Amino acid sequence: MKVLVTGGAGYIGSITGELLLNEGHEVTVFDNLEYGHRDAIDPRARLIEGDLRQPESILGAMREVRPDAVMHFAAYALVGESMEKPERYFRNNLVGGVNLAEAMLACDVGRIVFSSTCATYGQPDTVPIREDTPQRPTNPYGESKLMFEKVLGWYRELHGMRATYLRYFNACGATERLGEDHTPESHLIPIVLQTALGQRAEVGIFGDDYDTPDGTCLRDYIHIVDLARAHLCALTSEATGPFNLGTGSGFSVKEVVETARAVTGRPIPARILPRRPGDPARLIAAADKARDVLKWTPSYTDLRAIVASAWAWHQRHPHGYGR
Ligand code: UDP
Repeated sequence: MKVLVTGGAGYIGSITGELLLNEGHEVTVFDNLEYGHRDAIDPRARLIEGDLRQPESILGAMREVRPDAVMHFAAYALVGESMEKPERYFRNNLVGGVNLAEAMLACDVGRIVFSSTCATYGQPDTVPIREDTPQRPTNPYGESKLMFEKVLGWYRELHGMRATYLRYFNACGATERLGEDHTPESHLIPIVLQTALGQRAEVGIFGDDYDTPDGTCLRDYIHIVDLARAHLCALTSEATGPFNLGTGSGFSVKEVVETARAVTGRPIPARILPRRPGDPARLIAAADKARDVLKWTPSYTDLRAIVASAWAWHQRHPHGYGR
C-alpha cells in the first residue's frame, strides 16, 4: 500500500514508518520537523515538509501522493503545556486533523489509522480501562485527541471513511536505530536513563501518597515496536473504531526506577516531589479487543526488557538525534 505518515519523523511515527517499509509498503512522511528528527526518517521513505495547520499544505501532499491510507501521528503531546497553551493543542491536533480529513475526502482517501491516547479517558473510575469506559479528559491534550476521534466518527458515519483510533498507553522503548528524543523531555523512562547517564542529578518522583501498593502511580508501559506492529494489524484489518494498546499490566514509578538501576548498574538517585497536577493514580489498559479483533499481541511484557532496549539506544545516542 501507499501510506502517508503524518508525523513520521517523530518517535512512534518513525518506527511505524520503518516497519511499513520492511513489510513492503511505500511510505511518504509528512512532517513539519518542529519536534521530529530528519535522522529518524528511514532513507527509503520520501519526506514532504509541510504543516497540517495549513490546509493547502496537506491538500497538496495528498494530491501528489494519492495514498491508499493515512497514518496520522502528527500532534503536540505535552500534557503540562496543553494546560498552559490550550490553543496550540486545539489548533494543531484538532484543526490540523480536520484539514487532514478534508484533504483525504477531496482525494478519495478512505482509510485512516489515528494515534489517540489513554489521556482521552481522564481519571477512570475503574481499571483496567476498556474502550467503552467513559471518556472524560482532564487536559486539553486529551480533549483535542478525543475531539478528533469524534470528527473521524462522523466522517465514518457520513462519508464512509474507515477510521481506526489506537489509544496508546505509555509508549516507551527503542529499536536499534530509533528511540525517544523529546525536547524538553518529560517522560519517565528517558528521564531516568538520562540520570543514569549523569545528565541529570536525580529523578523527581511525582508523589508517593497515591492509593497504589507503593504509593507511586501505576502506568501500562507499551513498547513502541509493539505499538508500531498494532498499526500494521489495524491497516490490514477490516475493523475500525477504538482500540486500547497496552499490555494490561501496571508498573509503578518506583518499580521503573528500580528496574533501571538493575539494568544500567548505575545508582540513579531519586527524590520524592509533590504530585504532578492531573496525574491519575492508575492507567492500565484492557487490551483484549486489540488482541481478539486485530490479532495483535504485545511481545514486550517484561519491564526489564523494555527498559534495556531504551538504555541501549540512550547509550548509543547520549544526546539524542543529530546532536
Ligand atoms: N513521572 C515522575 N517523574 C518524572 C516524570 C514522570 O514521577 O520526572 C511519573 C508521572 O507522574 C507518571 C509516570 O511517571 O505517574 C509516567 O509519566 P510520563 O510523563 O512518562 O507519562 P504519562 O503517564 O504522563 O503519559
